[in-house]
Amino acid sequence: MSAPGRTLGILGGGQLAQMLALAALPLGVRCVVLEPDPQAPARLCAEHLLAPYTDPAGLERLAGCDAVTLEFENVPVEALAALEGRVPVRPGGALLARSKHRAREKEALRAAGVPTAPFVELRNEGDLAGALKAVGGRGLLKTSELGYDGKGQRRVGSEAELRAAWAELGGVPGVLEGLVPFQREVSLAVACTAAGEVAFGPLVENVHRNGILRTSVWPAAVPAGTEAEARALAGAVARSWGLEGLLTVEFFLLPGGELLANEVAPRVHNSGHLTQDGGGVSQFEAQVRAVLGLPLSDWAPLHPTAMVNVVGTPGGQDPDWAAVDALPGTRVHLYHKAARPGRKLGHVNLVAPDLETLRGRLGQLEALIP
Ligand code: AMP
Repeated sequence: MSAPGRTLGILGGGQLAQMLALAALPLGVRCVVLEPDPQAPARLCAEHLLAPYTDPAGLERLAGCDAVTLEFENVPVEALAALEGRVPVRPGGALLARSKHRAREKEALRAAGVPTAPFVELRNEGDLAGALKAVGGRGLLKTSELGYDGKGQRRVGSEAELRAAWAELGGVPGVLEGLVPFQREVSLAVACTAAGEVAFGPLVENVHRNGILRTSVWPAAVPAGTEAEARALAGAVARSWGLEGLLTVEFFLLPGGELLANEVAPRVHNSGHLTQDGGGVSQFEAQVRAVLGLPLSDWAPLHPTAMVNVVGTPGGQDPDWAAVDALPGTRVHLYHKAARPGRKLGHVNLVAPDLETLRGRLGQLEALIP
């Protein structure tokens, strides 16, 4: 059942690695993180290889682990190449290549039979003409690579705005997506072992603020059948992309009930943090299990659960921590990072006996977190 004495290598040492390492320990698994930032969150709970991701000695150490996983998608291809054939890397390089490039990602989603927003790939300035019309007249320009938390994105409503936004983002390749009139945003994770076991996480409802996740709630307020559909679509991505490990799909839910995939993260996801405190297996344990081939089944909270992100504000205000602690059902998770505006510094999970109580207390909790 458990895996005494195993080691799991992680590319990246941020808060996701921190929480993966904390979930791995009780299973008998130690984590080793390769991470060039001396102040990285995972340094406190994992063996920290303080070196660039392409460092030969660091990669040698990871190659000696039982398996390697990752906590961010922009792992240099050289690092993956150095590990290939020496240690299982889960998810592998082919899946990462899709998920880290928005245009390739959308093409691969469609190839898997998963609907997306209308989009046009913009490789160079010549592709801008007519692009906005093709996606419905209003859209979001997103860089194809290195965009996250709303970075590398501009909303555009005219061709002049599109041209200005393209220049502002540096004239780099991107995609223009049609603006989706979504009713809600939801996400769902799927995990697969190398032996072919498949398991799903809960369908979580997400609200963003300034392009950054603000709250997640489980269960999601969605029509019957939405969760089954999300599972079918995430399962299709996992199968079609050859998943070993865990990935999370973000969806737009349209007013008519249709789901469009927005993004795929080849890893645990901010929207799954609430699984840490709902009483069931967490997304972090699920990723560790999937990557190491430990027994795996569907995971979800046992009680209604929500999460509020703690994000650095321009004025540097802190949450009212005493009041957060005094609110029943709260659990604080801090990442040990220096505060900067827009930076994710931690999150607070909230568990309640029923959904009505959860929604009421979530409003109170949000008022305490700037
Ligand atoms: P992303 O970085 O693609 O996850 O986008 C961040 C957030 O921007 C999403 O969670 C949505 O709230 C919003 N967004 C992104 N793409 C679209 C779109 N095509 N239409 C409407 N809203 C979008």
